Amino acid sequence: MKTVEKFDVVVVGAGNAAMCAAFAAQDGGASVLVLEAAPEAECGGNSAFTGGATRFAFSNVEELAEVLTLSDEEKRDVDFGQYTEEEFLEDMGRCTQYRCDPDLTEIFVRNSRQTLAWMKSKGIRFEAMYGRQAHKVNGKFKFFAGLVCAFWGAGAGLVKGLHETATRLKIPVRYETSAITLLRKKGCVCGVRAVTANGEEYDIEAKAVVLACGGFESNAEMRARYLGQNWDLVKVRGTRFNMGVGHRMALDAGAMPFGHWSGAHAVGWDMNAPQYGEREIGDLFQKHSYLFGIMVNANGERFVDEGADFRNFTYAKYGVEVLKQPGMFAWQIFDSKINHLLREEYHIRKITKVEAPTLEELAQKLEGVDAEKCLATIAEYNKAVRTDIPFNSVIKDGRGTTGLAVPKSNWANLIDTPPYHAYAVTCGITFTFGGIKISNDAAVQNVSGTNIQGLFAAGEIVGGLFYFNYPSGTGLVSGAVYGRIAGTSAAAHAKSMT
Ligand SMILES: Cc1cc2nc3c(=O)[nH]c(=O)nc-3n(C[C@H](O)[C@H](O)[C@H](O)COP(=O)(O)OP(=O)(O)OC[C@H]3O[C@@H](n4cnc5c(N)ncnc54)[C@H](O)[C@@H]3O)c2cc1C
Repeated sequence: MKTVEKFDVVVVGAGNAAMCAAFAAQDGGASVLVLEAAPEAECGGNSAFTGGATRFAFSNVEELAEVLTLSDEEKRDVDFGQYTEEEFLEDMGRCTQYRCDPDLTEIFVRNSRQTLAWMKSKGIRFEAMYGRQAHKVNGKFKFFAGLVCAFWGAGAGLVKGLHETATRLKIPVRYETSAITLLRKKGCVCGVRAVTANGEEYDIEAKAVVLACGGFESNAEMRARYLGQNWDLVKVRGTRFNMGVGHRMALDAGAMPFGHWSGAHAVGWDMNAPQYGEREIGDLFQKHSYLFGIMVNANGERFVDEGADFRNFTYAKYGVEVLKQPGMFAWQIFDSKINHLLREEYHIRKITKVEAPTLEELAQKLEGVDAEKCLATIAEYNKAVRTDIPFNSVIKDGRGTTGLAVPKSNWANLIDTPPYHAYAVTCGITFTFGGIKISNDAAVQNVSGTNIQGLFAAGEIVGGLFYFNYPSGTGLVSGAVYGRIAGTSAAAHAKSMT
C-alpha cells in the first residue's frame, strides 16, 4: 500500500469533537490532518444538525459571560439563574441512573465552561436560547432547566465556524476520505488506511490518531445488532455517515467496549420525516412540546407521563417509548390554550399535523388510532386534572392528574379549547451511547485497561457518559471537552515520539 503523507496527528471525522481535537493538537505544536468521510457539502456530522444547545456550569452571570456575550440590559433584566457544577453532576447522575462513569463525567462537567470559553477564543460564537429555554414571567425572561446557551447559528453555524477556524489555522480537511483501518507497529497505532469515495486506498503515517468519527446510529445493521428489534426501522435524525467504522477500527485494535451498547438517544420525530436528517430542517422534525398536551398510541391510550420533568430530561428517552408502541408511532394532542408555548418546530411547513373544531372530529383524523378509545382517554384525562393547582411553565408546577394508571405529573391542562391540533411522531435516533473506553487523558484503553499507544478518542465514540437518558445540550460540550483533551494528549504523544 502506498504511503502518501506523514503527519504528527491524524483526526478521523470533522464534526465538533474532531475539530476541537484538531485545534488542540495544533496548539500543542503538532502537524494535523483531518479526514472526513462526507463530501464538503455534508461535512460536520451530527454536529451540523443540532440546535446547538450547550449546557455548562456557571455560578453567576459573570461566569455565564465568559462564554456568552451579554449586554448590560440582559445582565440586568433577564433571569438566567445559575447552574452549578454540582447541579450538572446531579443531572448527569439522575438521567443516567447513576451509571455514568464518575471520572469521565466529573472531568467533562468541571471543564465545561473553560472549554467553551476556549472555543470562543478560537472564534466560535454563542447566543442565549430565548426561543427555547426561556418564557416570559411578569414581563421578564426567565430561563429554566439549567440550559441557557447555544452555539450561534445552531449546528450549521457551529460547523461553519469550526471550518472557518480550521481554514484560518491552515489545518487541512480531506473530504470524501474515510479511515478504514488503524495502522499498527509493535502494538502502537502509527497511522490510518484511508479510502476515497471512488475506492482508492492509501496509507497515512501519523504518530497519533484521534478517533472522533461519531457513533453507529446511521448503520441499520449495527442498530439492529446492538440496540435490538425494530431499531433498524427507525429514522435517523442526523448524518448518514456515522456508520460505526470508528468503533470497528478501535475494537479491532483491541479497545475495550464501554458504556451502554444497547442504549441510544432517541426522540419523537415527525412521522413522515426522511430516512436521514435534512440539513435545511436541522432538528425541527422533533416535536418537543408534548409536556403541554398528551400523547396517545394506536390504541388511543396514553403511555408515558408527558409532564414527568422538563423536556430537557425526558425527550431523549421518549423516542424509545414511541418505538415500543403498536405501529411505532404516536399522536401528540393539544388544545389552543397552549399555542403560545409550542416550540418553533411546530410552525414548519413539513409537518404531519391535523386540526379540528371538535375533539370528535380530531379523533377521526388521527390516522391509525382507535378514535373511540382516544376520546375516552381524553375525557378520563380531563376529569383527572388538578385544576386547583395553578399552571406555571417555568417551574415543575405540580399541576398533575389524580387516579390515572399513567399519571401526568406537571403542566396538566384541560384539553377543552378549540381548535384542537395533533402531530404524528415516530422514533428518531440521535446517537448511540455505546463506545470505547478512554483514560482521563482521552487515550483509548485496551481490554486490560492499558492505554493503546498512539490512539485517542472523543465525542460520540466514547462510551461511559450516557446510559438510558441524557440531559439536553450535553453532546456537543462533552465532545468539545474530550476533543480538546484528546488533541492535547495526541500532540504530547507525538512530541514524545521525536
Ligand atoms: C438532530 C440532532 C439534534 C441535536 N441537538 C443537539 C444539541 O442541541 N446539543 C447537543 O449538545 N447535542 C445535540 N445533538 C447531539 C450531537 O449532535 C452530538 O452529540 C455531537 O454532534 C457529536 O459530535 P461528534 O463530533 O462526536 O460526532 P459528529 O458531529 O457526528 O461527527 C462525526 C464525523 O465523523 C465522520 N466520519 C464517520 N466515519 C468516518 C470515517 N470512517 N472516516 C472519516 N470520517 C468519518 C462523519 O462524517 C462526521 O463528520 C443533536 C443531534 C442531532 C442528530
